Amino acid sequence: MGQIAKGVGCSVVGCDNQAIRSLSTEKVSTAGLKVGERRRTYLCKAHYKEYKRKTKKEKMAEKWRYKG
Ligand SMILES: [Zn+2]
Repeated sequence: MGQIAKGVGCSVVGCDNQAIRSLSTEKVSTAGLKVGERRRTYLCKAHYKEYKRKTKKEKMAEKWRYKG
């Protein structure tokens, strides 16, 4: 799961790296990454890291919010 065929490029605008992960575009744009309007978004290693970091932050913020 999450594995993609070789030779697919990263979908982030201005990035030409080879993608290592495919995610739904909705999730990726929610994380604040600038991607096109295709259904699937492909992320390179660096952008996948960035995506993970941003979603982690969001989850942490939620935790704090619930803590009151
Ligand atoms: Zn990239």
